[in-house]
Amino acid sequence: MSFATRFAPSPTGYLHRGHAFSALTAFRAAQEAGGRFVLRIEDIDATRSRPEYEAAILEDLTWLGLDWERPVRRQSQHLTDYHAAIETLRERGLVYRCFKTRKELDIGRAPHEPAVAYRGAPLPKSEEAERLARGEAFAWRLSFDAAEKALCGFSDLSFVEQGAGPDGETGEVQARPETAGDIVLARKDVGVAYHLAVVLDDALQGITHVIRGVDLFEAAHIQRLLQALLHLPTPVYRHHRLLVGPDGRRYAKRDKAQTLQELRAAGVTPQALRAEMGL
Ligand code: GLU
Repeated sequence: MSFATRFAPSPTGYLHRGHAFSALTAFRAAQEAGGRFVLRIEDIDATRSRPEYEAAILEDLTWLGLDWERPVRRQSQHLTDYHAAIETLRERGLVYRCFKTRKELDIGRAPHEPAVAYRGAPLPKSEEAERLARGEAFAWRLSFDAAEKALCGFSDLSFVEQGAGPDGETGEVQARPETAGDIVLARKDVGVAYHLAVVLDDALQGITHVIRGVDLFEAAHIQRLLQALLHLPTPVYRHHRLLVGPDGRRYAKRDKAQTLQELRAAGVTPQALRAEMGL
């Protein structure tokens, strides 16, 4: 069986040790399998993506000793493909326009409570037309109920996990897309949502194995649903553990984890970094 995997960073910050671990894990798996390694720049969020972060990603990965297929796919250059997929879903009655603002969705929620999975319904045609005429912003949401009907339930939705989920899930895993509610597939500021772009690109790039951190395990459940609705193949998943720092906490952009650029400037070598990660 052919093997293709990818590293798909979002250029919204500098890479840190956690990214290096993920990229190296995927790269090594491709080498061991004699397969392909793809780098994909997930820059659909134009409000947060910056060219200097993308340049730093390429520099960091080269420094780490990785090599990838060219040309590199940049999601921002393929928005029309993603919109075409939303249009297909719309024609099948699987998505609807949701005009609720973040504020409206958050009513009654205390700041410490997680956002509840939203379940809504399309507005009556006349109200929708009025709001559109007023130029109100909306998001395309996937109707969970319509999806469930279209697929006659979700009992056939499973994926193969060769790593492990947060609760040790491994092997054949039953997908539970219902916990996410009516997910947003596109909105005004971010033309397409992460899940949709990922499933389309994984299929288009022939990815057979998705190797990424276990923090994205829940995403696999939603992505499995989208694959079924869009008749796309389901790759094998290999979610890996997250690297933790000396304080026992995972490395994260928002915690200002030391970046690979900083490590390099401090004289750390890629060999030392790999050894530290047990790779
Ligand atoms: N772009 C995502 C991130 O940087 C990763 C997507 C994926 O691996 O599926 O978190």
